[in-house]
Amino acid sequence: MRAGPSQEDIRRHNLGALLRHVHLGGPISRAELTSKMGLNRSTIMALTSDLTAAGLVREELPRETGRAGRPSLVVRPESARVYVFAFDVSPDRLAVARVGLGGVILDRRETTCERGAFALEELAGTLSGFARQMRRKTRADTVCVGAAAAVSGGVRKGDGVVRFGPNLKADEVPFGEELGRRLGLGLTVSVGNDANLAALAEHSRGVGAGVRDLIYLHGDVGIGGGIIAGGHLLGGHDGYGGEVGHMVVNPDGRACGCGSHGCLEAEVGERALLESAGRFGAGQQGRDAVRAVVEAADRGDIVAQEALSRVGDWLGLGVANLVNIFNPEMVIFGGMLREIYLGSAAQVRSQLTLHAMAPQREKLRLRTSALGDAATLVGAAELAFAHVLSDPLEVLARANA
Ligand SMILES: [Zn+2]
Repeated sequence: MRAGPSQEDIRRHNLGALLRHVHLGGPISRAELTSKMGLNRSTIMALTSDLTAAGLVREELPRETGRAGRPSLVVRPESARVYVFAFDVSPDRLAVARVGLGGVILDRRETTCERGAFALEELAGTLSGFARQMRRKTRADTVCVGAAAAVSGGVRKGDGVVRFGPNLKADEVPFGEELGRRLGLGLTVSVGNDANLAALAEHSRGVGAGVRDLIYLHGDVGIGGGIIAGGHLLGGHDGYGGEVGHMVVNPDGRACGCGSHGCLEAEVGERALLESAGRFGAGQQGRDAVRAVVEAADRGDIVAQEALSRVGDWLGLGVANLVNIFNPEMVIFGGMLREIYLGSAAQVRSQLTLHAMAPQREKLRLRTSALGDAATLVGAAELAFAHVLSDPLEVLARANA
């Protein structure tokens, strides 16, 4: 017979759970924590004093209660003191943010980059250089407790190796290790797929907060996705699941960067839209070029309207398949798919009516990303905070050592 959890296990679990409430929900009174966590007042008091002593939270009197009697202290995250580095690597853009506990973006650097082969040392050098610049500006009592990167590609669980990335031209790149070495903070850099992390970000802090079954579709140069089922991200056996961009919607269709034909990405991605609109090439690429097509369609440009309508049909067909299989409560369009969806919502809806089964689509909500361009960075920050939330005191002791 196995022994149950020890007192120490229970304490660690409760500290993590309390910190998670404060990190995701913001300032909260001890009284609310008592009822939300189902623990008694003295336990909540002991847990908050541990977290306060560790410098992870602080307790304050509420600003105004409007009620008589002794007010319950409010527990706040120490956002300015405890932070992580979040990195985002997409084909056109490198971004770094210093994100405080509670999800506050404290500082941010960004640069555009040329599309080309994945230059590991150059990329890691630029990103770690940005992080060092930001670190130099921090107060002496701040502490970095984690680092994580969102990468537009398939990432091996555990070691941060980017296995494939047709649009980043990455192939078996030990990205996490190299970035960690260059950061020189003694921290492991966790790495995740950008669309997966953006899905988690929208689920924990964005338009999908409180929604247990959702599908997030992310458009960059290609199309990625994250499927959250029953509150958990579906990763598959090896963590490469959720590649909705490579769901085949048109077998006789356009060639895809993955080697197949007619993938959702090939029919809906940036190149498909720009080519249909007669705008491909000659320096026209990226989010601005996509936005320009949507704006032209709005102004009545017939070629742009037809291009959007064509792309919207394929997008709707892809969403209908996903809705039939996963029965999500919400589908979220992020990255450049936000613009494409807004410009082709009628086509997406009509494909859903044609191809999605009635019970699955009855209560379906279609939404655009609430976090916008920050979704991938916010998701990377959540990945970096994950181990802090699972064992707050241990992580802080190590970071301070
Ligand atoms: Zn493909």
